[in-house]
Amino acid sequence: MSTIRVSRTHFPVTALGPGRRLGVWVQGCPLACAGCMSLDTWDPGAGVEMAVADLLEVWREAVVAGAEGITVSGGEPLAQPEPLRSFLAGVDRTRSGLEPVPDIMLYTGYEWNELDDTQRETASLADVLVTGRFEAARPTGLIWRGSANQRMVPQTDLGRRRYAAYLDHAPEHAPLQVRPDHTGIWVIGTPHRGTLPRLERELRRQGLGPEAVTWRPAPPPQA
Ligand code: SF4
Repeated sequence: MSTIRVSRTHFPVTALGPGRRLGVWVQGCPLACAGCMSLDTWDPGAGVEMAVADLLEVWREAVVAGAEGITVSGGEPLAQPEPLRSFLAGVDRTRSGLEPVPDIMLYTGYEWNELDDTQRETASLADVLVTGRFEAARPTGLIWRGSANQRMVPQTDLGRRRYAAYLDHAPEHAPLQVRPDHTGIWVIGTPHRGTLPRLERELRRQGLGPEAVTWRPAPPPQA
């Protein structure tokens, strides 16, 4: 049975793509961008191993709950191209007859010309693909992109229709969701430069001081 290593899933995600979405964060990233806000997703042995069939069940439940799309991020999703291809093909099969048709948004830290054939085949299943490393020295205000080098590329008619209005959209405040969980505080979205330190200061001011955040290495375990 095909399995995929996942960091977490969340519904509804409203800060990475239009509408209410299922978010899937794939575990493991070899790219090690300086300033990455998801350090907890780097270790390829962390997270949980899920059967693709079980992850598809999570998607079906999100659809029943009203999901308008799915966003797959990480970690580096294309570090597991084969199970991800099975998963996205399964998502695609569930879309027939749904109105509005849910869209598939996929993040990768790779550029298209770095992908091998399997990775390209997998990436082609997305309606919109966001490519490129996070480069902290190149901030951007563009929605759903972490740095100015990253490109958001619609690949299907659905992607072109749904994302046309967002390609050059630069909101004053980047959409964000802040979630406490057993690992500490994690943030969904692509925050503008300076937002995460401000957020952490504010949480501490309110006495909610997180012991762990996903944008710094985890503190060593207590002896
Ligand atoms: S920003 Fe994305 S591609 Fe870069 S290290 Fe973090 S998870 Fe990997």
